[in-house]
Amino acid sequence: AAKSAGRNAAVLFTREMAEGVHSRRTLEENLRLAWRDRRFALHYQPIVELASGRVVACEALMRWPVEGKGFVSPAEFIPLAEQMGLIVPMGAWAIRQACLDAAAWPFDADVAVNVSAIQFRDPDDLVRSVEIALADSGLDPARLELEVTESLLIDDADETLAAMRRLRALGVKLALDDFGTGYASIGYLARYPFTKVKIDRSFAQLVATDDTSRAIIETICALAHRFDLTVVVEGIETCTQADEIARLGAEFAQGYLFAKPLDGAGLQTLLAHPGLCLPLPSAPVTEAT
Ligand code: C2E
Ligand code: MG
Ligand code: MG
Ligand code: MG
Repeated sequence: AAKSAGRNAAVLFTREMAEGVHSRRTLEENLRLAWRDRRFALHYQPIVELASGRVVACEALMRWPVEGKGFVSPAEFIPLAEQMGLIVPMGAWAIRQACLDAAAWPFDADVAVNVSAIQFRDPDDLVRSVEIALADSGLDPARLELEVTESLLIDDADETLAAMRRLRALGVKLALDDFGTGYASIGYLARYPFTKVKIDRSFAQLVATDDTSRAIIETICALAHRFDLTVVVEGIETCTQADEIARLGAEFAQGYLFAKPLDGAGLQTLLAHPGLCLPLPSAPVTEAT
């Protein structure tokens, strides 16, 4: 009995593995085709100043629409695009499209774009794509903010620092994204030329109930301000969380409380309302998830 159970288990395992490989290959192929046909969109999520409710920036988030299925999650396709090397042209497209979009907004919020560590492997190419995006759009470089995660910094490469300094020299801002999740070192805040730190949403989720999270947020805020960085807390979903992070020293917030990521039309509608104040009305356009 044990033997046959074992054999069945082995058969099942093999079939699951085969299906795994199949769906991965399918996803890769679909991603390649989608990129070939440029079937991607950028949605934008507002970042809000807690003191005023003003939208100071919008983060560009890539969307892959699939017929009848809503959107493939970036959590699924970005890592794949990174493994396939596709993230380099896709990332350059995102920077350029975000600059073009922001230059046409009837409001002067900054635009934030996520940049993969893979894009930093060819610093000349990255800097050139930013220069082209700025030139083509005419966007004030001070309105462009590039978000990178701690994974970029673990190698502690001189090339990374040099590339970041070149981007700063263009007038572009740099944010450290998802702070506190990975290899967080407070030394990064001083060593690299960041202008902003974004505290990961896992802290926002706990801030109303957990003293440790409160202490961590308060400490990161104090430290960030010491190095002239501003602080955004990601993933704010309730008024209690917003009040709490403001009390702990954060000046900006991003999250579903204010708005979900919106398509172009949704963003225009949201920002057409004068005198936005906390809490903002829930987004007029929501996403299929
Ligand atoms: P991220 O840069 O940290 O972006 C914030 C993510 O949190 C977004 O997920 C956003 O929809 C989600 N979010 C915002 N507020 C809330 C909230 O209140 N509650 C919850 N539960 N979630 C919230 P999204 O759009 O699925 O993107 C996931 C990640 O994919 C991004 O995390 C970023 O790392 C990556 N990504 C997205 N677009 C790009 C891109 O153009 N280039 C690169 N390299 N990465 C991208
Ligand atoms: Mg981000
Ligand atoms: Mg983040
Ligand atoms: Mg993230």
